[in-house]
Amino acid sequence: MGRVHNFNAGPAALPREVLEQAQAELLDFRGSGISLLESSHRAPEYAAVHEETLTALRALIGGTEEHEILFMGGGARSQFALVAWNLLRAGEHGDYLVTGNWSQTAVAEASKLGEARVLWSGEAGGFTHIPTPDEYTVAPTATYLHYTSNNTIRGTQYPEPPASSAVPLVCDMSSDILSRPVHCDRHALIYAGAQKNLGPAGVTLILIRKSLLEQLRDDLPGIFSYRSIAAKSSLLNTPPVFAIYLVGLTARHWLDRGGLAPLAAANARKATALYAALDESDGFYRCPVEPSSRSSMNVVFRIHDESLEPTFLEESRAAGFIGLKGHRSVGGLRASLYNAVSEESATALVEILAAFRQRHG
Ligand SMILES: *Cc1c(COP(=O)(O)O)cnc(C)c1O
Repeated sequence: MGRVHNFNAGPAALPREVLEQAQAELLDFRGSGISLLESSHRAPEYAAVHEETLTALRALIGGTEEHEILFMGGGARSQFALVAWNLLRAGEHGDYLVTGNWSQTAVAEASKLGEARVLWSGEAGGFTHIPTPDEYTVAPTATYLHYTSNNTIRGTQYPEPPASSAVPLVCDMSSDILSRPVHCDRHALIYAGAQKNLGPAGVTLILIRKSLLEQLRDDLPGIFSYRSIAAKSSLLNTPPVFAIYLVGLTARHWLDRGGLAPLAAANARKATALYAALDESDGFYRCPVEPSSRSSMNVVFRIHDESLEPTFLEESRAAGFIGLKGHRSVGGLRASLYNAVSEESATALVEILAAFRQRHG
């Protein structure tokens, strides 16, 4: 079997060209006689990779002049704690918009280190809705407002960053960063685990406003402190060098193809086609998410007769489609349409959905 249609939720599809370049450079990295995997993170080969990755990310994201870019380990989940630990001083609180499992966990972890207040929660509505600005009021006393731009498990996404008045906005952008314009200027801090849209697992990207960096606590252990990581250009300790290299190749790949605007357009086409296939199936398939809150990255859906879902997964797997099972906490089906999932794969999925309905409808 060759390469399959990969709808994994994360780690997820990477551009084929990126994997090929990494393969070609694996044994003898750019004439060094060793692999990057065997190289010192202080060696000139890696220094160039580090710089190239930062340069490509800045060019691709755009408008990052006011922000520092950091690479850390620990995944997005470590940031749930580190945001609160770094930003909150005694007596301060962070406000949270809770739109799914990941934002719930962000609150739970932050609460261990400071006061995390739930400003709005979609739990009672089954997390099928993204709040509009009239549904919550940010306390001017809040040190930050935290939100999850795309809810990977529930299949919802903010159409644009939430209103936060003058309160610094913090975003877990793990599952939709680089899928559309990032709006750096609206955010004090953005973090994202790499394994959805940026590259492989192992590195977490942080964009933090330089003026915020200067105000942070400076009494934390170095490896948990944005200030000390920034002071050493993310080389305080050994960074995940190979993951950073792949993030750089991936960013360069999209830059060479026109950047975020064409990517956003392609992502919208993929999602629109898939939602149309679900909505126009005479109820055979259904999407539980409110139309205005739907994610372009993770399309969550059910078959009206849920007992057909295992059959669908089995038949689609046999036809070369993987990753279509919903998250274990919610069940059902999910197709993740990250940047590296091609329009051909999305079209092929629409076709097997139609064929399955024909056979079982
Ligand atoms: C995947 C995901 C996480 C968890 O990421 P880890 O890197 O595994 O810690 C957090 N938030 C969102 C929105 C995610 O999609």
